[in-house]
Amino acid sequence: MTFESRYQILREEMVTHHIQARGVSDERVLAAMRDVPRHVFVPPQHRFRAYEDCAIPLSDNQTASQPFVIALMLQALGLRGDERVLEVGTGSGYQTALLCRLAGQVCSLERRARLAEKAAQTLDQQDCHNIELHLGDGSQGLPDMAPFDAIIVNAAAPALPYPLRIQLNANGGRMILPVGDLHQQYLELVTRAGKRWEIEQMRRVRFAPLIGRYGFKSYDKRENDSDMVAGV
Ligand code: SAH
Repeated sequence: MTFESRYQILREEMVTHHIQARGVSDERVLAAMRDVPRHVFVPPQHRFRAYEDCAIPLSDNQTASQPFVIALMLQALGLRGDERVLEVGTGSGYQTALLCRLAGQVCSLERRARLAEKAAQTLDQQDCHNIELHLGDGSQGLPDMAPFDAIIVNAAAPALPYPLRIQLNANGGRMILPVGDLHQQYLELVTRAGKRWEIEQMRRVRFAPLIGRYGFKSYDKRENDSDMVAGV
């Protein structure tokens, strides 16, 4: 049996036992997760764990999110296939590849150049072409590309970032993000109708911080300080 077919079996098992069995029922999300090879997005030394339902270390002290949480977040967005989506925190690019199968156009923002470059390479090899990758502070969104039908934030925010709120499509746009302190957060699903933003609190989670103008302040002295201003 080749490595590829072995990985495919493990992937099927992950989707059936960890994702479907725990309540994710959106067929499009399940199909995308059966299709996208997570092992190519994680560092080689962690490949053997790619289909366990766990977070995996990336470079720069970041982690690839747990697949079950990714599935829940994607299901909450209720994508049908023609949406314009903003992703904040490209990370490994795995969720970006899922979004590229679930939506029409994906803009993904990452603040760490090394991660963004690696993700760009992998996504290209996976033939994901309805994606635009941007380097920068995603807490400010992408005003020139707005409005977005859906926004997904992969890092914890201290509060709902104002620019993301106003970049959401006024006609039913949906955003999912973890909101809380550095130790724990709740996933919040935000639905916009005109000047009203309805917020539904979902499960408790733990994400790495969203570092930026409308996120947390960076305490890492080695980092470029251009994005350390005005953090909360
Ligand atoms: N779902 C991704 C999760 C990546 S972890 C995966 O499975 O790979 C969160 C990512 O958010 C990290 O790559 C981190 O660098 C990035 N991030 C943190 N603050 C950010 C900001 N203000 N703008 C863009 N990306 C940010």
